[in-house]
Amino acid sequence: MSNTPATFRTAMSAPKFTLLCNLHNCRAKLSGFAWVTACSHAFCDQHGSEEFSRTPAICPACSSMLSGKLDVLRTELAPSEQYKAMVLVGLRPETVLEISHKALDFWTYQVNQERLLMEYSLSRAGGQVLQMEKFMIQQNQSKELELNALRGEIASLKKVLEEYKRKYSEVLERLNEQNRQYQKLQGLLDSLRMHTLGTREKDPISHSFTTGLVKPRSPHSSPSFLGSEGDRFFSLGPENNKTFFQFSTPTRDRTQTFIKKN
Ligand SMILES: [Zn+2]
Ligand SMILES: [Zn+2]
Repeated sequence: MSNTPATFRTAMSAPKFTLLCNLHNCRAKLSGFAWVTACSHAFCDQHGSEEFSRTPAICPACSSMLSGKLDVLRTELAPSEQYKAMVLVGLRPETVLEISHKALDFWTYQVNQERLLMEYSLSRAGGQVLQMEKFMIQQNQSKELELNALRGEIASLKKVLEEYKRKYSEVLERLNEQNRQYQKLQGLLDSLRMHTLGTREKDPISHSFTTGLVKPRSPHSSPSFLGSEGDRFFSLGPENNKTFFQFSTPTRDRTQTFIKKN
């Protein structure tokens, strides 16, 4: 084989390479005794004795029929010095080389198989990493989109809130305006009432109705809207709105009180 010297060097420069059981779900590091086949496969002692006890023997790695007497061999991976000293003794140099050649071919095949398997695993892992990265990028993009949608929602809700605040202050302003008008009317009503009382007591045409301002004739006749009720109408807040609505028909109540008093 023309590529033997190169692969031989590769095998020599990788002294840590150890044969692994070629059964794909075992892959145990081989030591002690191992089973080797004519199809260049190797198995641990346990799997070799299991697989090759049947007849006909079939290689569990490549399904080759191993019917020959020397197609499967149980071999000692680290033979004794004595064995090494004697096993090839007496053979012709070309036979020794041929045996070595075959043994090295077997080793080269195993190293290459292992390299291919590692390359395959590596490319598969690389593919998985790429797929994961792609998935992560997609996830990030979709999260980013979700986040942007939420940001948009927050912004529009803020706008709505601002609009509500504006409307609220408008309504509050209108309410205050109505309070002021109510107070003015209340003042007029009070002055009218006092004027009526005054004219009944004294002169019926000596006072003006138009100003709404009344000169106090006695401590009891001062306008009641300048008292605690008036303060309530001026101040803002939900409590006072309620107060306002409670007085939604104040004129009638006041009139009734007025009538009852007379
Ligand atoms: Zn095994
Ligand atoms: Zn095989």
